[in-house]
Parts: sequence; C-alpha cells; structure tokens
Amino acid sequence: MNIFERFAMILTPSRKRRKMISYVIVGIVIFFGISIGAVISILTSPAEIRSSLFHWDEIKRADALDGNIADCNGIPIIDSSPIQISTTYPWPLNGTITCQYGGRILYGEDDFHGGIDISTGKNDPVISIADGTVLRVQIDKKSYGLYLLIQHDAGFYTLSAHLAQSFVKEGERVVQGQTIGLEGGEPGVDPYPGRSTGRHLHFEVRLTGDQNSRINPLIVLNQ
Ligand SMILES: [Zn+2]
Repeated sequence: MNIFERFAMILTPSRKRRKMISYVIVGIVIFFGISIGAVISILTSPAEIRSSLFHWDEIKRADALDGNIADCNGIPIIDSSPIQISTTYPWPLNGTITCQYGGRILYGEDDFHGGIDISTGKNDPVISIADGTVLRVQIDKKSYGLYLLIQHDAGFYTLSAHLAQSFVKEGERVVQGQTIGLEGGEPGVDPYPGRSTGRHLHFEVRLTGDQNSRINPLIVLNQ
C-alpha cells in the first residue's frame, strides 16, 4: 500500500474507490510537477526565446535586442524617403552608433529597428536636440524602459529610450541642448532598462507622435 492509498483509506473504506483516489492524487502531483517545471524553464530561458514563445510584436522585439552590436548584425537599410528637413540638429548623446535604423535580418527573420542606438557605455547625459514640450515620461518594461517623447516646435517628435534617469516631467518645456536624462539600459545595473542588452540610448525621430511615422534619425542630425 503506497502513501496515497494510505491517505485514501482515511477518506473511504472501499478498496476500489481508495485506488481511484490515489490515482487522482498521483495525477495531480505529476500535473503540478510538470507545470512548475515548465514555468521555471521559461523564466530561466534567454529573453529572445521567451519573446518568441509569447509572440511579442516584431518592432518591440527589435528594440528588445538593443544595445548589443552582435544582435545588430543584419543589413541596415538607410531610409531613402523623400523627407526634407532643412535644419539639422545636435546629437542627443555623444557616442557611437551601435545599431542603425532600418530593416535587418534577426535570427533568420525580417525585422525592423525604428531608431538608432547610440552608446558611450556610461550613464552620460542625453540632451534634447531642439526646443519643444515633453509629451510623455513613461516606463515601458517590455520594450523602451524609461523613455521620453518630446514634441518639438520644428514639427517633429523625438523619443529617447532606456534612460537610467529622467530630469524632465510631462508638460515641461525644454530647450535645445538641455540635459533631459541619463543614458541607461544595462540590465541588472541601471533602473528601468526595458528590454535592452546593454547601456545605450535608443533614439527615434517621428513625424507625428505615432510609432508608424518613424524616420531615420540621421536625416535630422548634424553629420
Ligand atoms: Zn534601438
């Protein structure tokens, strides 16, 4: 008589029912064992495997892999859209581009990177590239981490993501060159990295506030 049968004996005197109850208990134990095992293996798997399991959208997945040059090994397509912006602006962070804007092949699939990644590897100051108003200061744990969306007087928008810190509030006016936050994105070190693999600024330029209106930031930045 196994332990489950003994337990079942307390519940019912019928041998047949005792056996049935013990089978049910064994079944429940196995089911929970497998479930807990599955949850642990998902939680301990690499981020890109987790994201493919849960089908996070492609754009977010591209941003998720930000900050690691090895992850940006696709074919960058420099945007050739006929947008003409007569004035150019200072860079939001004095660093090197670690990932270009555009389409790329990521893990064998077409992917799209909606901004450029600029990195110094430090918590360096990020500036506003033009005068404007802060529209959004938010934390997007699945993608951008701590990010700022600014509506510029010149008629475009910029988004600065994976910040370690923000120095501005929603509704606040900012001027060109003003420090608006600090470069971040180092998982386990910087607060609110979002889905980033290393310290950098993910920088987007949008024609409207919408994600679908993104253009290559290099069009508006001083070369
Ligand atoms: Zn990026």
